[in-house]
Amino acid sequence: MLHSVFTFLHEFPHSFRLTDAVDITIISVFLYSALVWFRETTSQRVAVGVTSIIVLYFLAVTFNLYLTSQLLHAGFAILLIMLVVIFQEDLRRAFERLATMGRLRQFRAVAPLASELDTLVQVVFALAEAKVGALIVMQGRDELDRHVHGGIRLAGQISLPLLESIFDPHSSGHDGAVIIRRGYVDQFAAHLPISKNRHEIGLRGTRHAAALGISERCDALTVVVSEERGMVSIAENGSLRFVPSPADLKGHLERFIAVNFPVQTESLWKQFVIRHWPLKALALTLAVVAWILFAYSPGTIQRTFVCPIEYRNVSSDLVLAENAPAEMRVTLSGTDPAFRLLDPATLKISIDLANSRAGSQTVAIKAAELNVPSNLSLYGIERNRIRVELRKRPPPANPVEPTAEKGAAS
Ligand code: ATP
Ligand code: MG
Repeated sequence: MLHSVFTFLHEFPHSFRLTDAVDITIISVFLYSALVWFRETTSQRVAVGVTSIIVLYFLAVTFNLYLTSQLLHAGFAILLIMLVVIFQEDLRRAFERLATMGRLRQFRAVAPLASELDTLVQVVFALAEAKVGALIVMQGRDELDRHVHGGIRLAGQISLPLLESIFDPHSSGHDGAVIIRRGYVDQFAAHLPISKNRHEIGLRGTRHAAALGISERCDALTVVVSEERGMVSIAENGSLRFVPSPADLKGHLERFIAVNFPVQTESLWKQFVIRHWPLKALALTLAVVAWILFAYSPGTIQRTFVCPIEYRNVSSDLVLAENAPAEMRVTLSGTDPAFRLLDPATLKISIDLANSRAGSQTVAIKAAELNVPSNLSLYGIERNRIRVELRKRPPPANPVEPTAEKGAAS
């Protein structure tokens, strides 16, 4: 064991290439995204289940448990389909977020201001005091359009008179939700999806079910004012909670703004390395371990392939004799994973005959004429030179002009 560790440490610096570093970086990014995702979604139990199955599979392979490994191997495709079905909404959100990443960054500067948050808190508690029902959705990083229906667009400033007039029970637009996007009252009288989580909704009605419904589908924060009880609640990440005081609501809103519209004062170094560093370190460690287990192969091996020969640029007045060699054995050298990535059908020797003349001649085969992938090298070739014969192309036969026979009946 100790010997293998020493051998590994000795060979590693010599065999580690730039492509391996790129390989590990890409896998780390994927693993990091998966870890963040599992942390954000309520799917930790599923993550533990999936990880256990993967660990069991590798143990089965390591200890040659043939039937178990075959069964798990066959089950992976089914598992993948099941995961896509279970997480279709989360996957959709993840791809949507990826697509809108650049766009949302532009809007960071226009997140609600501290004074506007104060106004919002003031309006909400004034409405609660007056027992006027209200539903206010603050967009997070996820798009809302897919979940919100109807409503009337407006780009209004967050202000007491505007929000009080919208939720005034005598106004025809008071029913439904107000949507706050990019620091503006962007929509009112909007219809939200209703949650089916009766346990979380409890004795509350459809206004609360709507707040909970939108919070189950995206990262928005929704403030609800109950008309019946004059109470304020917030719905976020699939749960509803009572907010007892204005200070409490202000705290929730500030945390929400800090998470979704962070002020970019950190240096690039801090953003990329230091933020969430334990998760990043875990992802990198897992990627390195996976790479050592599955991709690391310090020893170079040789493999021989039969490659077709292609002759290019034969002058138009010459033809290649049929006895020109059509294929040749070529030996390549590289690591085992490099050979696994190689498609032998793509290998060919391409000889340039542009400067050739008529007659029999010897053509040298250079390494450049074989399209060896960059992670493999040419170890040997059956022959370094081949003989080819080029003949002058015979002139085209004169076409026979049809001649009218004299004396033919007309
Ligand atoms: P409250 O405590 O204020 O009575 P509640 O949770 O008991 O609230 P309801 O009494 O059913 O809910 O409130 C109905 C109001 O909730 C509607 O008039 C409408 O303004 C709003 N509402 C109901 N469903 C939706 C929806 N899907 N999207 C937006 N608003 C909705
Ligand atoms: Mg009610």
